[in-house]
Amino acid sequence: MSETVQLNGLVFDVRRSARRKTLGLTVDRGAELVAHVPVATSVEDLTRWINNKLVWVYRKLALKASVAPGLTTPEYVSGEGFCYLGRRFRLKVVSKQPLPLQFDGTQFTLRRDARPAESHFRRWYLETGTEWISQRVERLSRHTARKPEKIEVGDLGFLWGSCSKNGIVRFNWRVLQLPVRLIDYVIMHELIHLMEKHHGPKFWQALDRAMPDWLNRKDDLANMAKDHLVFGGIDNTRNITVVAATPSS
Ligand SMILES: [Zn+2]
Repeated sequence: MSETVQLNGLVFDVRRSARRKTLGLTVDRGAELVAHVPVATSVEDLTRWINNKLVWVYRKLALKASVAPGLTTPEYVSGEGFCYLGRRFRLKVVSKQPLPLQFDGTQFTLRRDARPAESHFRRWYLETGTEWISQRVERLSRHTARKPEKIEVGDLGFLWGSCSKNGIVRFNWRVLQLPVRLIDYVIMHELIHLMEKHHGPKFWQALDRAMPDWLNRKDDLANMAKDHLVFGGIDNTRNITVVAATPSS
């Protein structure tokens, strides 16, 4: 039978683990509240601890309600979902494995001592993504007049992509979380910038020819960013504007 703690009208599912040394709380995608607890912790201690976290819990729940079905900052716990090419894969935290973070095509496994976890995810997206994006650019640039001199994937802050004067096209590693059709939009947008630097009528005409349904994709991208479906600290509000702004040079 599962153990629960009730507090202020909230029900917390209690999951005890022998490996656990500290108390932890998660609010998962379905707004389910879970307390991760060492085996020996008493119900009194647990209740007192949760009580101190209630402000945080309410804030999380309010955020969930306002952005549902969005994803907030990851907690890097088992069961959490991470997106790659628009598909969500579960994370499993494991005690032993050769690499800090591994992906077998069905799930991510993160070694327990691999902290901070975000840096491992970032590195994974960077390494996996650079090859994937390069191939994708190669394919999509058949529809455009110019190929980039060089493709780079890295941290671009609040930009999805950028295009420099010397023909280097850069992509934010975070785009790898998006569905392929939206990554294609980001790629195509930057490829068009190789010919049309600014967002003038010629830019949109060229984009129209290369990708007739670009507006649809652009809207979906803006909505996804707004719903916090992309993790990694993108300032979503700014990002939406920047997608349709002059790229940095
Ligand atoms: Zn642009």
